[in-house]
Amino acid sequence: MDISLLANLAYIVSAALFIFGLKMLGSPATARRGNMLSALGMLIAVAAALTDQGIVDFQWIIVGVVVGAIIGATASRLVAMTAMPEMVALFNGSGGAASLLVGWATLYGSAEVQTFTAVTVLLAILIGGVTFSGSLIAYGKLSETLNSAALVFPGQRIFNSLLLLALLGCGIMACLDPSPDSPWLYGVLGLSLLLGIMAVIPIGGADMPVVISLLNSYSGLAACAAGFAINNNILIVAGSLVGASGIILTNIMCKAMNRSLTNVLFSGFGAIKQGKAIEGEVKPISVEDAYYILEAASNVCFVPGYGMAVAQAQHVVKELGEILEGNGAEVSYAIHPVAGRMPGHMNVLLAEADVPYEQLVEMDDINPRIENVDVAIVIGANDVVNPSAREDEDSPIYGMPIINVDQARTVFVLKRSMASGFSGVDNPLFFGENTRMLFGDAKESISGVVSEFG
Ligand code: NDP
Repeated sequence: MDISLLANLAYIVSAALFIFGLKMLGSPATARRGNMLSALGMLIAVAAALTDQGIVDFQWIIVGVVVGAIIGATASRLVAMTAMPEMVALFNGSGGAASLLVGWATLYGSAEVQTFTAVTVLLAILIGGVTFSGSLIAYGKLSETLNSAALVFPGQRIFNSLLLLALLGCGIMACLDPSPDSPWLYGVLGLSLLLGIMAVIPIGGADMPVVISLLNSYSGLAACAAGFAINNNILIVAGSLVGASGIILTNIMCKAMNRSLTNVLFSGFGAIKQGKAIEGEVKPISVEDAYYILEAASNVCFVPGYGMAVAQAQHVVKELGEILEGNGAEVSYAIHPVAGRMPGHMNVLLAEADVPYEQLVEMDDINPRIENVDVAIVIGANDVVNPSAREDEDSPIYGMPIINVDQARTVFVLKRSMASGFSGVDNPLFFGENTRMLFGDAKESISGVVSEFG
């Protein structure tokens, strides 16, 4: 059997593993195994591609795998859970840069480049360039090394339209002269990097989850274009899967915020910060008082947010959940689709603490029965429980679906201060009649309540 047939068979196995892996990522119960399956698929694909092309022999593939695995394992151990979204942004950027380089490299050593190849190379460079620079800006905004507010200036849309036109012009010229050193090619490269920056700066921090997911989709499309450029089937399949799943996730997130993608990308959301002024009285509560109320509660719902990740409170939250159950209460954990700083952030944290999957409830399932909840315990969540998203038409987050904790009988909000959340919008929940503020680090506050039960 010839080596290229074997490689294509290996690609089919890899593609099947990718698809099963993706399917299994859909549930926290199977996600880990899904990840392993996909990683195995990638290992087979890389080994098959490198041997098929006669690029390196097997010993070097093994050396590469070992070195890569050590770097990957160390990085994943060292990166804090709260810094995960930044890491995803960097991964997306690296994917874009890799596709850009693969596309570009295709032009070197090819005596005559077909028009189809030239077009795919240019698409790989264009989409890869936009993904790379856009992801770096997203990284900067998420890690707050750059100002996370939307940056808008007069004439921005005209400037961006001219940029697109220039890019199109350079792209057509580069297709007519597809040499690796063509000035038009450098034009496409430079302009696509600029376009990535210009596309992400007008988007505010609160919309970054959508942007990251969209950039993830772009990195897949860039890989797909590079796959066509070098005629590699598995790169085309893997790129398409990433492209499609990224766009599906983008769509799910837009729905979770009740926004259209156009609105996310072009509205400059976050540039204007506040809605109506909030009036009312804040009612702080002590750990001891919180204990007395919880002791008598028969239905308790935890609503975690980014602050739970910062405080690393998930283990002690689970401990309190078990105590409350032991005390006869029904306990649930309500998860908002964009709570935290990445899709699935809260699911990952709660899974790490071994919270039973059946106690996790989605926003749409908890809202209709939130009035039966005796105590909703908001742990470091802010934007995702902000009632002005429902009530204040002037609020920048108006229309975003929230978990309606303000409609529970009593709400505890655990946070350190009156500071606003990621979107920078004030929260009337803190002044609600039935709201009690338990100020302090979430882990310390929950530990305090746990000790009261002890
Ligand atoms: P928010 O960012 O709205 O609020 C987090 C709150 O946690 C803050 O108000 C902060 O208040 C509190 N906090 C921080 N540290 C601690 C601590 N140690 N102990 C207790 N509280 C703490 O988080 P949400 O999860 O409610 O909302 C997510 C926001 O992030 C949304 O706007 C979403 O659009 C955006 N986003 C989501 C992403 C995703 O994919 N999930 C990705 C990127 C952005 P204080 O400082 O007073 O303690």
